[in-house]
Amino acid sequence: MSKPLKSYSIEELSNLFKEAGLPSFRVNQILEWVYAKGVNTYEDMTNIPKTMREQLGFAYLLTMATIDERLVSVDGSRKYLLRFHDGVVVETVGLPSKDGRLTVCCSSQAGCAMGCSFCATGRNGLVRDLAPGEIVDQLLVVQDDFGTRVTNVVIMGQGEPFANYDNLLAALRIMNHPKLLNIGARHITVSTCGLIAGIEKFAGEPEQFTLAVSLHAARQEVRDTIMPAMQNQRLGALRQSLEHYSSATGRRYSFEYALMKGVNDAEEDLDALITYCRRLLCHVNLIPLNEIEGMPMLPSGQETTRMWFDALEEEGIPVSVRRSRGADIFGACGQLANARRG
Ligand code: SF4
Repeated sequence: MSKPLKSYSIEELSNLFKEAGLPSFRVNQILEWVYAKGVNTYEDMTNIPKTMREQLGFAYLLTMATIDERLVSVDGSRKYLLRFHDGVVVETVGLPSKDGRLTVCCSSQAGCAMGCSFCATGRNGLVRDLAPGEIVDQLLVVQDDFGTRVTNVVIMGQGEPFANYDNLLAALRIMNHPKLLNIGARHITVSTCGLIAGIEKFAGEPEQFTLAVSLHAARQEVRDTIMPAMQNQRLGALRQSLEHYSSATGRRYSFEYALMKGVNDAEEDLDALITYCRRLLCHVNLIPLNEIEGMPMLPSGQETTRMWFDALEEEGIPVSVRRSRGADIFGACGQLANARRG
């Protein structure tokens, strides 16, 4: 069976076309049809000669994600269950802002192997990596559904992005390409649970993509419990890799910290976080945890969140509290897919 066109990076496709003796401007035309105009049949590529369209049809399967389910929140955000050509589904969220921005939270893998104890996706393990074009398809679907351009992307949906590094980077380059989705690199954020090798590689990429790290605990024993797959990515080594990241790129990154009652919100957790963040070029994002049915974790109260915010601010550590959106439409990643699985 022919391989999906969307499984290739821009570079790979250019090389394949070169080997086949096709002029390079044809690759650009095809990529523009697929990713800038979002067509899903070769017949629609009207500036490509008919014989070439037929050849392409034999050589590369042209696929497009379809919407299996779509939920609209009272706050305007929309959550989608998207299905790929082989039946695999992922979750994607579209988050419109009053100022006209449209942010997409996309998945980098179907399922996830990391097994974080507070995450609905982690419960069921990894299904498979997403291809570059499958990561980008999520933007195309949301863009089409909202009828407006995607301006910002956060890779914070299902999966650990750095566990699918090459496909992720290929997808980010399609999003960032001026003739394709033309989304500024600084408006694209990749959130990792802390894979050190991935952070180091990411620091060496020429584009100015933004980095976020899901920290969720600055005490090793707490992190080992709630993020078991990170036990071999020690907090000390993670800190060193982040120091290297900011000295290599000059860029600030953010720490995501979901406050969970009685799990990671004690005074010693706060002290450990303050110590951890000192002299780092970081920003702390405190996140109100979305409650998940069947999971014991509860969000910390507003008072605790406020206290953490004030304490971090007092220490001169940049901090914000993320507004929780879409709680009425299975806001937390993996919740919708799990609910449909039954
Ligand atoms: S929080 Fe992220 S890394 Fe952890 S299990 Fe869920 S999807 Fe995977």
